Amino acid sequence: MPSAPTPERLLAAMADAVFAGDNDGRITYWNSGADRMFGWTAEQVVGNEFPAAPDDRAVRERTEALARVRAGEDVSMITKRRRKDGSVLDVWIVFSPMRAWRDGPIDGWLAVVRDATRERAIQRELRSRVELVSRLASVVAGVNSDLELGTVLRRISESGRELLSADGASYAVIDGDDLVITAVSGLAATLVGERIPVEESAVAVLRSSGRASVAASNRDHPNSSSVVTEHTRHLAQLAVALTRLDAEPSGALFVFFAAERRALGRAELGVLELLADAAGTAIANARAYERLRRLREHERAIIDATADGMAVLDAEGLVRHWNPAAVELTGLSENDAIGRPLPFPAGEPAVVVEHHLESDRWLEILASRIAGADETVVDFRDITRAKAIEASKDLFLAVTSHELRTPITVVQGYASTLQTHWDELSDDERRDSVGRIADRTRSLAALVEQLLLGSRAGSAAPHVAVVFDLVGVLRTAVAGFKTVSAIHTFVLDVQPDLPDAVGDPSSVEIVLGQLLENAVKYSPDGGEVTVTASERGAGIVIEVADRGMGIPDGEHQGVFDRFYQVGGERRRFGGVGLGLYIVRKLVEAQGGTVRAKSRAGGGSCFEVVLPAASA
Ligand code: ADP
Repeated sequence: MPSAPTPERLLAAMADAVFAGDNDGRITYWNSGADRMFGWTAEQVVGNEFPAAPDDRAVRERTEALARVRAGEDVSMITKRRRKDGSVLDVWIVFSPMRAWRDGPIDGWLAVVRDATRERAIQRELRSRVELVSRLASVVAGVNSDLELGTVLRRISESGRELLSADGASYAVIDGDDLVITAVSGLAATLVGERIPVEESAVAVLRSSGRASVAASNRDHPNSSSVVTEHTRHLAQLAVALTRLDAEPSGALFVFFAAERRALGRAELGVLELLADAAGTAIANARAYERLRRLREHERAIIDATADGMAVLDAEGLVRHWNPAAVELTGLSENDAIGRPLPFPAGEPAVVVEHHLESDRWLEILASRIAGADETVVDFRDITRAKAIEASKDLFLAVTSHELRTPITVVQGYASTLQTHWDELSDDERRDSVGRIADRTRSLAALVEQLLLGSRAGSAAPHVAVVFDLVGVLRTAVAGFKTVSAIHTFVLDVQPDLPDAVGDPSSVEIVLGQLLENAVKYSPDGGEVTVTASERGAGIVIEVADRGMGIPDGEHQGVFDRFYQVGGERRRFGGVGLGLYIVRKLVEAQGGTVRAKSRAGGGSCFEVVLPAASA
């Protein structure tokens, strides 16, 4: 059995430096490991104070440690020591107390020293990792809260470059078969927008291998873009991580290093992958936001373009959007409407309500809740005209039945008198009764004729278009009216050499008859009725003017509507509101126009323009 080595031999064989000292700090033992580590021999140090504390801090640490050792403690510390050649070394020292005999008083100390350069490096590395992770967390958080994609991708590239101490970084989006460089950091801005085929890049390796990241030599991926080649030629190495959206590769984060063979560990690639993932989140966010924005814009364009008034109300019932038609219908500007309650009642959702505005306009209003949003859309349209027509229709029925009943009553009366009292009546009385019956029947026939015309005029009936002598038609019409009224005078004023008109002469007769009848009817005090005709451009202008009650402002257009009558006391003039409607329809069917004007000096003037034959 081999004999056990002596403690002396053991200590000499140890790779660690071992030395001892007394309570005054003088070295009493120094092994060959200490020789190798510090450069001094045992002869040089034994009996002296330990020479190697490089600075005040190390001296203080040693003094404190030895005080604790003297109190009986083991002390372990990482500190610095100087070598004989002056270089400074990271060391790990364990001090232990030494006693003269077991349980005796402490009369010195033993130090075992190990080179701690590697531990120090690991410690530093660990610290920088922790720092890296916390910075990464803040980068990713920033990315998620930012919606502008360009900024986000640039920030991700910058973070990749900074966190991996790279010389350049870029983010490229996959577009079909190409990578499109979207953001760069530390590289020429002209690279943005450059395309390189995916197949020529390291992304192809990732795609085929299914890996999330890879480090490669930049030279292994020559590509066809001269711009990219020119700006990345000096970069020897690269690492790339893939961004996947719904499992599909959608982009890649590249970092480049100028120095070849820079070790890239799992941790660095992990950082790159994390950043590439963050880019994925940002791209998905940006896409969703863009989709939403487009949808909103689309909706807004539709709302703005509709002829209906539209208001969008928020949960509090305040107006959030007010379209141009709403401004037009209510007279309320966007500024005055937004942020305030609706200026009229919206009604319950899905229930149509009608509302009379102060401006005398009638609105039909329909509110609908938007599913999924706390918003209500209120749609409203102008139904003033429909309302007026509805009202005139009621009136029409009343007036028509009245107009029909009066002559019928008269006819019935005379007919039954003739029937029951025939023998008692004189010839003159019988003739008078028959005359009145004939008279009333004529006016009844005229009324029925007008009702028929009115209903036909509404449909697009085919009409005759011939060249005819307008002056002749005007003369006949005016001459016919001269016998009708004793209190009116009729004047016809025609421009010499008036060209012929094109159209339907019998329609023009009806038009003139209706205008002349109204001129007489609405000037109960009599006066001059003037008919003039003259050439204007490609048309002939006919004017029928009277000195009667005139048409109030604002009603000049309405009088041509079906069943429309100017309100108030003129209802006593009878009629059903069809005359001017018939006039307009007949004139328009001939390619002409008609309008009502006020006549200077009192009365109304109706202007009809017909196409001239010369045109
Ligand atoms: P009606 O005479 O049967 O009421 P019209 O269509 O002929 O219907 O005319 C519509 C309305 O226009 C009339 O109710 C009347 O108030 C007004 N009007 C028509 N012609 C004249 C006129 N020459 N002067 C004043 N008002 C007129």
